[in-house]
Amino acid sequence: TSFEEVQLTELIRTNIALARYDSPTPVQKYAIPIIIGKRDVMACAQTGSGKTAAFLVPILNQMFEGGPPNIQHGRSRRKQYPLGLVLAPTRELATQIYDESKKFSYRSRVRPCVVYGGAHIGDQMRELDRGCHLLVATPGRLLDMIDRGRIGLDYCRYLVLDEADRMLDMGFEQQIRRIVEKESMPRTGERQTLMFSATFPSPIQMLARDFLDNYIFLAV
Ligand code: AMP
Repeated sequence: TSFEEVQLTELIRTNIALARYDSPTPVQKYAIPIIIGKRDVMACAQTGSGKTAAFLVPILNQMFEGGPPNIQHGRSRRKQYPLGLVLAPTRELATQIYDESKKFSYRSRVRPCVVYGGAHIGDQMRELDRGCHLLVATPGRLLDMIDRGRIGLDYCRYLVLDEADRMLDMGFEQQIRRIVEKESMPRTGERQTLMFSATFPSPIQMLARDFLDNYIFLAV
């Protein structure tokens, strides 16, 4: 199988080739068409399965298809309104997702950013000021950015919870709920929500029930 089997924009196909991804991994093969079909997904997938591209490729593809992101939002100084938000448990994972999102958004008008705790917030705010269409974030630092008026969730059409079980293990459940249940966050049905988790215990099932809309369950 190849990436040519799914309908992807020219730009994302070029960037997949530049990343030297020749054929999709199983989670990519199954998740990408479902996500392009605009369904919510709960996917059980391990680290190393290629899960990052499984959500980045279809989300960026949809952003490219929708024409250039609303640059007015992207450029409005001080407060950024990302179209996509990826929540991750650690700085390391957030950085990996961000690095991959830079590859797949190469030569596009989509600008990815990353924010995480334990690093200078001023530097991250300056990066946000340059525009942010896809934000990768750890939960605590994102709440800080929202409280400081630097990030608004009002236009967030794509929401990803990556390594959701690890985020719960690390005690992020309340922070995640505060983010997803914010008044400004579009409701289920108005946004597309994807959850990735290595395991599917009942706390994760409850999050999936609360955050996802008529979702497809994928185990690879
Ligand atoms: P992940 O599970 O998303 O952390 O990906 C694990 C590693 O596999 C990363 O280094 C990716 O860059 C790489 N990778 C993911 N999908 C593919 C693919 N289809 N072809 C080649 N490498 C890939």
